[in-house]
Amino acid sequence: MASQPVIRIRATWVVGYQDGDHRLFSPGELVYQGSVVVFVGQNYVGRVDEEIHAVNTLVGPGFIDLDALGDLDTTVLGFDNQPGWTKGRVVAADWQRRDLYSREELNFNKLYAYTQLLLNGITTAVPITSILYRQWAEDIDEYRHAADVAESLGLRAWLGPAFMSGHNVVEAGGQIGMRFDEQRGLAGLEDAERFIEEMAARKVSTLRGFLAPDRIEGCTPGLLAALSETAKRHDVPVRLHCCQSELEVNEIHQRFQGRSSLQVLADFDLLHKKMLLPHGQYLGGKSATRDSITRDIRLLVESQANLVLCPLVSGRHAKYLEQYLPLREAGVTMGLGTDTFPPDMLANMHLGTILSRVVTQNVQAASAADYYRMATLGGAKALGREDLGRLCAGAQADITLISLDEPAMGQIFDPITALVINGNGRDVRGVIIAGEKVVWDRQLVKRQIDLEQLHRQAQRQFERLMATYPERSFQHPPLDKLFAHSFTVNPPT
Ligand SMILES: [Zn+2]
Repeated sequence: MASQPVIRIRATWVVGYQDGDHRLFSPGELVYQGSVVVFVGQNYVGRVDEEIHAVNTLVGPGFIDLDALGDLDTTVLGFDNQPGWTKGRVVAADWQRRDLYSREELNFNKLYAYTQLLLNGITTAVPITSILYRQWAEDIDEYRHAADVAESLGLRAWLGPAFMSGHNVVEAGGQIGMRFDEQRGLAGLEDAERFIEEMAARKVSTLRGFLAPDRIEGCTPGLLAALSETAKRHDVPVRLHCCQSELEVNEIHQRFQGRSSLQVLADFDLLHKKMLLPHGQYLGGKSATRDSITRDIRLLVESQANLVLCPLVSGRHAKYLEQYLPLREAGVTMGLGTDTFPPDMLANMHLGTILSRVVTQNVQAASAADYYRMATLGGAKALGREDLGRLCAGAQADITLISLDEPAMGQIFDPITALVINGNGRDVRGVIIAGEKVVWDRQLVKRQIDLEQLHRQAQRQFERLMATYPERSFQHPPLDKLFAHSFTVNPPT
């Protein structure tokens, strides 16, 4: 270690960590050697081999994305074309499931998405992709490649193929049903377990395996029981979408003898401090009462399970965490996820603050600092990593440099407030992960990527995927009936 250079960043603002919380230093210094921070504060007196001057810049911990968009996103199609179940957001029961992406396209999606995460200052990602375009769920080869991509770019990631034993369909009559195949779910879990072992054997300090069952209503009791055993055997994080939709809550009520989603997880011993739960919006089960909501919050508190809030995706679906204040008061750990395009943590912090205030009708319910904590310390706690999400001696050197120098940033009194309300991911200038520069001057540096070319290829791939929507969608309407433009488009003359 002694041979590695000592690097000091001097910045107008540095977000250090002291006495259990972030703290601002202005001007500030951050010193790291190898992958580890050795000093944060002012007037470092030790040897320095390299200096970085970050003028009009906020130097802070990298963001932790617990539901990181790891895919080409299709929200632009559905945003104004609703309801989603008529537009391919739930597959038609008569669709013979098949892979709509080639292996090369799946691989490209990883490169594209992980690059976007880094450019937005996300240093730790727990990626997620859609299972709508697949023969079933994800496979192990896809994640072997994902690990190669993450390693080549320098992204810190928890990776694992999604698996499921069932999924929603739109029945011929237009009602929502389910299709199950428990064996496929169990086989997917076995692959996921093998992948965790492979990741451990790979011994890359920035890569870990985790368990990613797709969503609670897609799990049969057999799969939940097996998942619980596997999670205990490997002591890894598990992410399971639950308390996400009314459809889910009703489905769980019906299939699990009137239990709420969180009760079902508790029954299978799946509520624990390594559990990551997007999105926590429907607590208390079907026909929730004050008592059933309080009971569910208590389950979260006692188990120390973690909620993953994704303000942008939730807001786009006209929903947010109504129980934000009681959850916060009870001390439930909350981290953030991007989950949709753009994977912009600053935008999510801003919107999260706004939505928290709106759903609680309380302007003091949430602050910029609260959401900044969630994007850093909250995510680190959820992953059980006290050395992430903060900058202090001994922590990992996962660092973002965000410019405060843009006219669009407006006027600055407090840099965190300015970033959260006026900034966006495009203000991220530099990203360092485990002491290694991965983004500098908005360009990928560890693996050089032509961002223009990446963008063009993503557009072509999006257009190919879009063309497959009629095949999967209820009653198979042609594309122009599925998705209308915002205004009438005049044809070329
Ligand atoms: Zn999600």
